[in-house]
Amino acid sequence: LSERIRSEDTLPAITTDNCEIRLFTNAGLSLEAEKNDNPFSDGVGLFRTEIPFMMRERFPTEQEQVELYRTLLEAEPNKPFTMRTLDVGGDKPLPYFPISEENPFLGWRGIRLTLDHPEIFLVQIRAMLRASIGLDNLSIMLPMITSVSEVSEAKRLIRQAFYEVEEEAQEHGESLQMPKIGVMLEVPAVLYQLPQLSKIVDFFSVGSNDLTQYLLAVDRNNSRVAELYDSYHPAVLSALHTIAKHSELFQVPVTVCGELAGEPGGVVLLLAMGYRKLSMNNHNLLKVKWIIRNIHLGSAEQLLAKVLTLNNPQDVREEINNYLESIG
Ligand code: PEP
Ligand code: MG
Repeated sequence: LSERIRSEDTLPAITTDNCEIRLFTNAGLSLEAEKNDNPFSDGVGLFRTEIPFMMRERFPTEQEQVELYRTLLEAEPNKPFTMRTLDVGGDKPLPYFPISEENPFLGWRGIRLTLDHPEIFLVQIRAMLRASIGLDNLSIMLPMITSVSEVSEAKRLIRQAFYEVEEEAQEHGESLQMPKIGVMLEVPAVLYQLPQLSKIVDFFSVGSNDLTQYLLAVDRNNSRVAELYDSYHPAVLSALHTIAKHSELFQVPVTVCGELAGEPGGVVLLLAMGYRKLSMNNHNLLKVKWIIRNIHLGSAEQLLAKVLTLNNPQDVREEINNYLESIG
């Protein structure tokens, strides 16, 4: 199979009934490997900026961040590159910024922390913007959004940084483009605020890892309850379906960037729900492309209709496995 997969690696990700899917990569874990990027991906759908922060002994300076981000944006300047603002807290501690909490996953995480420390946020945004001078492939994504007011506040800070950096760029005769600004959909509260959010963002990106954890109230890293953590739970599938439908209704581009987007079964269901952009770890990309090239959207939609009637994630997996076996 792997040979068959590789032999098709330069072909487009298109279903047998001609639906084209955009495939992006998640980056951040191994910067060196990702610098040369994946020639078969349409860009970077999620760059986890916290990873380089976690590998240091102190906050990287603005200039250090500029250099890193510039290298990444320049690697493939014609492909979109989505940088997520710092998403520390929860399971991602910074050694030089200790946080002690009883419930870290319900605590000071992601945008909550950076809005409380605008100096950290502004330095990072300024660095992203400075890195993008003369380029037009940067998008900025906000993690752990729970409320519309967080997006408004973050956008206000981004605008502030934009005017500063734009002025500096113009002094040097260079131009700066306002990046697209989007939010992660990963806290269940956003499911009930999609109309409001769609008015103030340029794109959505579904974080199925956290969405699963928070919808099911299961710590994604706690082995005792690991069996309960399941993205094929009917509630999670229903949430994903709702997001796909509303994104289309409100015409907001949407990507899925959680692990589910890199799993064969997840891919089939997500396509059937209407998702057309998936972002995944590099090593899953060719496998996912192969799956897409071998599925018929119509039959995937039939599978989804069946799956949405099931109450048990185990039954869902069985249906999906039967389907995947049928396509080889
Ligand atoms: C997610 O929550 O699905 C996600 C992509 O973000 P992270 O795994 O970095 O929390
Ligand atoms: Mg997340």
